[in-house]
Amino acid sequence: MTDSQVPAAAAAAGKSLATKKIVFVLGGPGSGKGTQSGKLVKEFGAVHLSAGDLLRAHMKSGTPDGQMVADMIANGRIVPSHVTVTLLKDAMEASDKSLFLIDGFPRNEENRAAFEKQVMMERLLGRQEGRTDDNIETIHKRFKVFTEQSLPVVEHYEALSKVARIDAHRDPEEVYREVRRLFEEL
Ligand code: UDP
Ligand code: MG
Repeated sequence: MTDSQVPAAAAAAGKSLATKKIVFVLGGPGSGKGTQSGKLVKEFGAVHLSAGDLLRAHMKSGTPDGQMVADMIANGRIVPSHVTVTLLKDAMEASDKSLFLIDGFPRNEENRAAFEKQVMMERLLGRQEGRTDDNIETIHKRFKVFTEQSLPVVEHYEALSKVARIDAHRDPEEVYREVRRLFEEL
């Protein structure tokens, strides 16, 4: 999916992605990720998504970047994040299930950051509050500004032990349980 195609699809799916539970299943080769995932699929109705399997299917699909993916896999290299993230995102959006086991991804920091950015992006796009800055181009710029200029402010206070970090990739009620605990301690 190209950037110009993102807004419509993401706006439609943003809300649903935000409510899904996503678990990364990580571990060395042969550690039993697939086996344990299979058991969770049976007991919890989870959906098992192997990043490697999705990439191998994509490689055979005849798409323009199929050859690039094939070459990277043949060389044991990590496929560019946007390709893998798009495959994972499309698979999740196509499903009406709400629990996903993502097997073998993220494989590096860039994978992780790209995935988070894409999911955050969808939340903003799905927000639909009519803000003029909730469009794909401006959101890219806002993330850049946040990383370059605003994050150092957080780091400054963190060095003074005045920062509480909260995992916001959860539903608002879960996040609030943690937020209110901090205020009780204040
Ligand atoms: N791969 C990738 N990104 C991913 C997952 C897999 O680039 O997020 C590529 C990479 O080239 C890797 C290959 O796909 O070597 C096989 O991955 P898979 O997870 O299927 O193999 P495993 O680690 O389970 O043996
Ligand atoms: Mg695997």
